[in-house]
Amino acid sequence: MNNVLDDTKFIMKKYNIKANKSLGQNFLIDDNVIEKIIEGSNVCKDDLIIEIGPGLGTLTEVLLEKAHKVISIELDKKMIKILEDRFKLYNNFELLHNDVLKVNLNEIIQKEKKDSNIKNVKIVANLPYYITTPIIMKLLEEQLDLNSITVMVQKEVADRLIETPGGKNTGAITYSVFYYATSESILEVSNTSFIPEPDVTSEVIKLDIRKTPPVNVKDKNVMFRIIKCAFMQRRKTLLNSLTNTKVFLNKDEGIKILNKLNLSENIRPEKLSLQDFANITNEFLKE
Ligand code: SAM
Repeated sequence: MNNVLDDTKFIMKKYNIKANKSLGQNFLIDDNVIEKIIEGSNVCKDDLIIEIGPGLGTLTEVLLEKAHKVISIELDKKMIKILEDRFKLYNNFELLHNDVLKVNLNEIIQKEKKDSNIKNVKIVANLPYYITTPIIMKLLEEQLDLNSITVMVQKEVADRLIETPGGKNTGAITYSVFYYATSESILEVSNTSFIPEPDVTSEVIKLDIRKTPPVNVKDKNVMFRIIKCAFMQRRKTLLNSLTNTKVFLNKDEGIKILNKLNLSENIRPEKLSLQDFANITNEFLKE
């Protein structure tokens, strides 16, 4: 029986493919990892799957068997030819030759939901690592009609994305993910599971999109701007960062607000919960 490694080598030879590093091409060759991604994303016949960066079609093939429909978005023209040949007999496959960051995902999802009996919309992907953050932010901030996002990312990035705000891996993006989704780790993946091997360890994570946000804040966009200001200068206290960026009028006002919210004057931004940032935002927006 063919396995993914043999299939990958065969396709690469047949089409004379050399992985394009600048497009983040590291092809999965590990059957066990593919199985875990499919299991973790819980793909079923009611699902529309949007796959980002199908590459040679390794994950795509399994997704096509399990889902109602798969829409794959791929930037590399060489991959498009392979994917068109490989899946021409599937009538539940659609391929978009485009940069995922430029695609109107909302339009695609709304159209598919109108035209067929799709119950869930899920993102499943082994992401190109050079644009992990912009892709995740696009998927979350556009508030698409999504149920979940199951993606392979660098382990170091995964640590930040699925951390609970206040935990040791907290960064500005931790708060965004936490606002829009609950998250979990599915599996750590060694670099030997890819051709070519990436320099880093990877991790598959799953984000389940929340139906309602976990905090009450007067304006979430203002909150995210404040979080950005708080994390702009490394190793500075929250008080200094928010004073320097004029979120607090001056240090005295900042101290008053922090005292009122039971936060220490010396606290660092990464120690705050999302609720703390919501409280600061609500104070900032007070008439
Ligand atoms: N899914 C395949 C696999 O698991 O073997 C390939 C994954 S590879 C890590 C990332 C894929 O994303 C590549 O096929 C690459 O060409 C594609 N890609 C890179 N930048 C992209 C972009 N901006 N939009 C869509 N696809 C992109």
